[in-house]
Amino acid sequence: MQRFFAENLFDGKTIKNNQIITVEAGIIHSIEPAAAQDNAIQLNGLVAPGFVDVQVNGGGGVLFNNQPSLETLMTMSRAHQRFGSTAMLPTLITDDFATMQQAANAVSAAIAQNVKGIVGIHFEGPHLSQPKKGIHPSQHIRQISPEEMALFKRTDLGLVCVTLAPENVSIEVITELVQANVIICLGHSNASAEQTFAALQAGAQGFTHLYNAMSPLQSRAAGMVGAALVDASSYCGLIVDHEHVDMTSCQLAIKCKTPERIMLVTDAMSHVGSDQTELQFAGMQINREGNKLTIEGGRLAGSALDMASAVRHCVEDLHCSMQDALKMASATPATFLGMQQQKGYLAPGYAADWVVLTEQYHVNATYIAGEQVFG
Ligand SMILES: [Zn+2]
Repeated sequence: MQRFFAENLFDGKTIKNNQIITVEAGIIHSIEPAAAQDNAIQLNGLVAPGFVDVQVNGGGGVLFNNQPSLETLMTMSRAHQRFGSTAMLPTLITDDFATMQQAANAVSAAIAQNVKGIVGIHFEGPHLSQPKKGIHPSQHIRQISPEEMALFKRTDLGLVCVTLAPENVSIEVITELVQANVIICLGHSNASAEQTFAALQAGAQGFTHLYNAMSPLQSRAAGMVGAALVDASSYCGLIVDHEHVDMTSCQLAIKCKTPERIMLVTDAMSHVGSDQTELQFAGMQINREGNKLTIEGGRLAGSALDMASAVRHCVEDLHCSMQDALKMASATPATFLGMQQQKGYLAPGYAADWVVLTEQYHVNATYIAGEQVFG
């Protein structure tokens, strides 16, 4: 049995002081008040549930699309652990079928070998909208085929999330995927609000990077953004990096959806946890300027954001409470993924996954299953 002492602890719901956390076989056994440190391992800073990132394209200098291997997944996971992420969905941008298969096989191996931090896979595309493709390679955007359907339904991949454009995928196909436990996100789409509501009705549960690459809210056409904001039960990923979404638009989303439905995501490219400035992807050159990644012409190409910075931006720039910001980084995405009994909170029976933060939301240490993986 491991014992830890937390002077300040946010358990996903409330803040507690002077707590002893005991851990057995990677799972929290108890959290109880303590008068003193009592020979336990001291955790210096605010202890909070580890961050859960449902959209990660790369990290540590590697991009999942460019090298879809087990080694890449290990590098990505390690890179994001430095910023407090303890669970992630490695995310494959639209690509050819062979690359999708390699990516799935890499995730299957990671799940089988219990690679820390990898809980499934997110296929962002290829069944998207051409006009809202962003940097997704046009030539690979296509209709769904039986082989892709079978790939999405594989049961050896952990959690499977698929981002699709509902105007390009039938309601029957969405229903079939939902019945196979695939988590459907809507995005890179020009769908009307009506098409969006129909997809939600069929079981779609989330929206990929709300506002970015989706039909906007307008006076006489609510678009996907309007439908997402008004729908009470779906979840929205939000990139809070000062580049993708205006701060007032972020505040509006949190106000409409509540922190229980907004998930902070990084949409990180290979740059996070590396000093890389240039990246080649699908024949395009992606350049980094500060925290902004663009291709020639200025189009945004993913982010250089990390989860700890996203939390910091929420507190400092959106004036969220610390509790709300941390919830949007852990409890809410964990619930979206159906892991609300395992992750996103610190309580008996939950994974011993936590981040230890400074007052400015920098990461002192990260623990997964009770093991220190950073700091
Ligand atoms: Zn995207």
